[in-house]
Amino acid sequence: MNEYDSNRIYDLAAVIGFNKTDIKNEADCFVLNTCHIREKATEKVYHEIGRVKKSFKNTKKPIVIVSGCVAQAESKEMLKREPYIDMVIGPQSYHKIGDLILNYQRKKKRINETEFNVISKFDNLEKIKNLQNKVSSLLTIQEGCDKFCHFCVVPYTRGPEYSRPFKQIIEEANSLVENGAKEIILLGQNVNAYSFSENDKSYRLSSLIMELEKIKDLKRIRYTTSHPKDMTDDLINCYKNSKKLMPFLHLPIQSGSDKILKLMNRKHNKKFYFSVIEKLKNTNKTIKISSDFILGYPDETEKDFQETINLIKKVGFINSYSFIFSPRPGTPAAEKKLNNLLINKNRLQETQDILKKFQIENNQKYIQQNCEVLVENRLEGQERYFGRTKFMTPVKFESNNCSPGELVNVKITSANQNSLFGIHKNYKSKAA
Ligand code: SF4
Repeated sequence: MNEYDSNRIYDLAAVIGFNKTDIKNEADCFVLNTCHIREKATEKVYHEIGRVKKSFKNTKKPIVIVSGCVAQAESKEMLKREPYIDMVIGPQSYHKIGDLILNYQRKKKRINETEFNVISKFDNLEKIKNLQNKVSSLLTIQEGCDKFCHFCVVPYTRGPEYSRPFKQIIEEANSLVENGAKEIILLGQNVNAYSFSENDKSYRLSSLIMELEKIKDLKRIRYTTSHPKDMTDDLINCYKNSKKLMPFLHLPIQSGSDKILKLMNRKHNKKFYFSVIEKLKNTNKTIKISSDFILGYPDETEKDFQETINLIKKVGFINSYSFIFSPRPGTPAAEKKLNNLLINKNRLQETQDILKKFQIENNQKYIQQNCEVLVENRLEGQERYFGRTKFMTPVKFESNNCSPGELVNVKITSANQNSLFGIHKNYKSKAA
């Protein structure tokens, strides 16, 4: 979502005459768009500001803005601790960035803009064209979360669940496709909680998918990130009814122990998670799943951990993210006693070894098979391209007759943990 927000920040800054630059120390304005999910996010911001300070030591100071969730969570403290920061802007206020920069240029007064006004944000963003021109484009449809998992900062930094108006999203999708997008990834912290009503009609994520299906030049639809509780039947049925919805779903569970899921306040148990997977597979047997795991959550015993390992073996995720629990200030889990770090590290290692084994086995199944790949870009060198399979797996392949945005048939010749390698069907090597 931060990538989507960063793109929109560029679009907004362009309105007041700013352009993107890759030459960092020539910038007039430096925006650090931050994420609070990863560990030590705040310290990383101060380190980055230190680097900016150093590279502008002998030149005119740029306007320095910290935006995103760290800015939301630490606004006052940041302005107090680091005088080099001119402005902090929360994730629900960045639509004002143009006016705020102009204001700062006039008055030179430091700004703290961390209001939660998500409706006005999207109403304002609607007026500014989304200029992303990527083959695979991101589109935020929902923000915030009401689930309050005990380890998570999102409900505090992004605020309560908010769903954008249905028509506004379809218009933005059409404009992205006109600009060259062939794949749209619908985004939300709780994307499948999307719910919008207007004129006695209610729209869910399934309504959006089926409406996007009608956009002629759009080839693929994806969405992320989902909560198991919101995998409703109408959404599951899209895996049968939509030809463009890709058969790959990221569905975080976090732990395989019901005791830990309860302590995490996840609002679902293992049985419910399995029932969702079963429904999905009964609807579309090609579907593949990935997940997230937190290891070493407070009070996790060896038995709880083994339940997580058993769950991984049972589902056979094709790739997943796994981390050791680390407390986020202000969340209920931050008050809990931490587990032994060495035990946590061993559990993480064991988990990652198993996830890796499944990932490699899954990738190797494609060797000597043909895969449909959406070409995203040309790699350095003349005849190498990058694209992704239906299951999001990266593919690097040789071709002399394809271009970004095309769906091509690639014969897979080798694989490693993260990628597939192959040759476009009609590839003719110049050496031959
Ligand atoms: S559902 Fe996701 S975003 Fe919401 S609180 Fe839980 S982990 Fe955070």
